[in-house]
Amino acid sequence: MWSVDKVVTGGLIWTMNPAQPEAHWMALHQGRVVAVGTRDEEAPQARVVEDVSGQTVLPGFHDAHCHTMWFGLSLGEVDAKAHSNLDALYGALAERARQTPAGGWVLATGYNQEAFGGEYPDIRALDRVLPDHPLFMRHTSGHSCIVNTKALEASGISGAQLSEVDLAGGAIVLDEHGKPTGVLEERAQSVIQQLLLPKSMDDMVQALARASARYSQEGLTSFTETGIAGGWIGHSPREFAAYQLAKQQGVLAQRAQLMVVSDVFHDVEGHPNDPNVLSLDAGIRTGLGDDHLSIGPVKIFLDGSMLAWTGAVSEPFSAGPPDNYGYFQAEEEALRETMLRAAAAGWAVAAHAIGDRAVALALDTFEKALSRFGAPVVPHRIEHGGVVTDQQVVQAARLGVAIVTQPGFMPELGVQMRAAMGPHREGLIHRHRSLLDAGAMATGSSDRPVATGVPLEIIQSMVQRIDAEGVVVGEHERVSVEQALWSYTVGSAQATGSADFKGMLARGMLADYVVLAKDPLATAVEELSAISISGTVVGGQRVFGEHG
Ligand SMILES: [Zn+2]
Repeated sequence: MWSVDKVVTGGLIWTMNPAQPEAHWMALHQGRVVAVGTRDEEAPQARVVEDVSGQTVLPGFHDAHCHTMWFGLSLGEVDAKAHSNLDALYGALAERARQTPAGGWVLATGYNQEAFGGEYPDIRALDRVLPDHPLFMRHTSGHSCIVNTKALEASGISGAQLSEVDLAGGAIVLDEHGKPTGVLEERAQSVIQQLLLPKSMDDMVQALARASARYSQEGLTSFTETGIAGGWIGHSPREFAAYQLAKQQGVLAQRAQLMVVSDVFHDVEGHPNDPNVLSLDAGIRTGLGDDHLSIGPVKIFLDGSMLAWTGAVSEPFSAGPPDNYGYFQAEEEALRETMLRAAAAGWAVAAHAIGDRAVALALDTFEKALSRFGAPVVPHRIEHGGVVTDQQVVQAARLGVAIVTQPGFMPELGVQMRAAMGPHREGLIHRHRSLLDAGAMATGSSDRPVATGVPLEIIQSMVQRIDAEGVVVGEHERVSVEQALWSYTVGSAQATGSADFKGMLARGMLADYVVLAKDPLATAVEELSAISISGTVVGGQRVFGEHG
């Protein structure tokens, strides 16, 4: 009789493998699943037997779009989401200032005006609370931020120069007297962010450790970090090395695929017969790495945000200023060129596209890239697809392009998204069911820390799609619990090019799984998010809970 490292038995196993959806034991050896069986079949001998009686095992959750470094760093900042009125927030900022030497930055995160009756903090109030400390407070969308006068002074921008600052793809928001309100949009944020960057290796490794520990508690075994190394979303040109160090030090429990932002791409010379490409030094590209840490697609921002009405839409936003079609982050031709030249170097491209006009640019460019250069090692992707037409869903399915939507936004951001799009476009917001029906890839993802990243909360949202006013956002886009679980496991694996070794619990797959106290398929939908995680296992090793 052969013997394996471990047999997991006694509970119910939903494998996500269509050939054998339900199992009662699985055998693990050297970090892989080597056999899966039912009650009628005998399990092999094992050195360790993990008893999961009364519990349910699923493949580990896989967040296909999140900002792990940003989330980990934000866990150490003032949390604007923790406060229900502006005075309480001002109080928390003042408290942090008291603990910070004069002149030191006060960092805050998660600001959403909707939690404060639609109001933005008053820069004069911020200046009163923080007379000696510069403030940088991120909007929950990441697409804008709020600063005080100390911060503007530190950036070297004074009132007289405001109109001369080159802010292509961004704006310093001014009041009716031409004075800064403290709100900086899109690329304008960089005037402040460049003062706070790069983060040190120590800060980054600690941030990853904080984020990873949280992920383990929530059943996450894999994630895709959607933008490192530069641009407004990166934290250091050495960000990949910080990930390597975190892995080396054993504080990065999850498997991570990292997207590199297009901002740090440049001409890389080759033989005259080679295509003229944009890439990284040494010609490294998507796919480099191992099953624990790898380089994913290049991340390129085509447009802005739905909440800030800066996405590129084909019909004006239904909220905010009239006749606002949003904007692209650069000239369309330049964006297309960047995508094509990166694809020519073998990169998969992940195009941030919120509005349907940006989605169209992405899909049409992918169509060209695929015909010229063939399919990359992991699929091209559209990040968010905030509003996607029926025809675009079909096009994505045909091209094998993943549209990585976030139905998990509904409870926190659904009301604002409905307002931004208007009733006639409600059914096109962060689609899910249509993607599955069209045979396109559909994933589980959070965009954390923009919104909740807890997989079971998002899975519940995928099924319900209920916003804070109790409205179902896009009834036709609701999915079953099974489809939601499938998206969070197999779907994410497909979109990240890793479906041949993860996403299912089947022979040969990585032994990444989560143990749930209750069976989600036998739980009322409104109680899904309350199911407790009793264990998380990556490569056969327990990273959370008593199991393993
Ligand atoms: Zn994102």
